[in-house]
Formats: sequence, C-alpha cells, structure tokens
Amino acid sequence: MSCLFCRIVAGDIPSTKVYEDDDVVAFEDIHPQAPMHVLVVPRAHVATVNDLGADHDRLVGVMVRRAAAIARERGYDSRGFRTVFNCNADAGQTVFHLHLHVLGGRPLAWPPG
Ligand code: 5GP
Ligand code: ZN
Repeated sequence: MSCLFCRIVAGDIPSTKVYEDDDVVAFEDIHPQAPMHVLVVPRAHVATVNDLGADHDRLVGVMVRRAAAIARERGYDSRGFRTVFNCNADAGQTVFHLHLHVLGGRPLAWPPG
C-alpha cells in the first residue's frame, strides 16, 4: 500500500488520531499551520475532489460535519475556523488521498496565498 494516508488510516504509520468511525479518520497535521490543524480523511481511498461521484455525497457530508464537530469541541465554532480541500498543483495538494484541512485558533488571512 503506497498511499501515505491509507497507511495512516490502517495504523501502519503513526499519527495523533482525534476521531475515527466507519467512514472517516481525523488526525493532527504533522506540520500545523494554526493552533488547530486537523485532517479529516475518508477510510476509502479517493485521490482528489475531482474523483468524487454522487455515491460519495454522504461521505463528504460526514467529513464536513466532523470538521465542524472537532472545531466545536475545541471552542472555535463561534469565533470561526476554516475548512479546505486542496486539489492538484495550483492549490498545493501534496498527498493524493482526499483530506479536509480544519484550521483555527488564529485569524486566517483571506485571500489565501
Ligand atoms: P495538502 O498539501 O495535500 O493539502 O496537505 C497535506 C497535509 O498532510 C499537509 O498539511 C502535511 O503537513 C500533512 N502531512 C504530510 N505527511 C504527513 C504525515 O506523515 N502525518 C501527518 N499527520 N500529516 C502529514
Ligand atoms: Zn489513500
């Protein structure tokens, strides 16, 4: 299995997991860009947002709602946080297993770099 996040999901590579269920795993980003920087990933391998089909609609909902739940648990729901899917080169995607960044705990600039 060559995909980094498939290996993290399987537990073959260590990570600081903060949540898991039958659909998704969430873990701390190894290079956090904010006081909260969690990645929510599906257990099933999907490379990019471009590869999502209608059959993934429930999974994407689970991912986004889990991001909100993690932000809420950390007290960032009302002050705000950011959820990001990077897709391919211009967005700087480096790991080609779908992941939702959940960032918060400091003001986040807009537009992004
Ligand atoms: P991307 O740039 O593809 O949207 O985001 C990939 C993210 O995965 C980056 O924020 C990066 O720090 C994180 N990352 C890369 N390798 C590892 C790893 O081995 N463990 C963890 N926890 N995060 C990783
Ligand atoms: Zn994968």
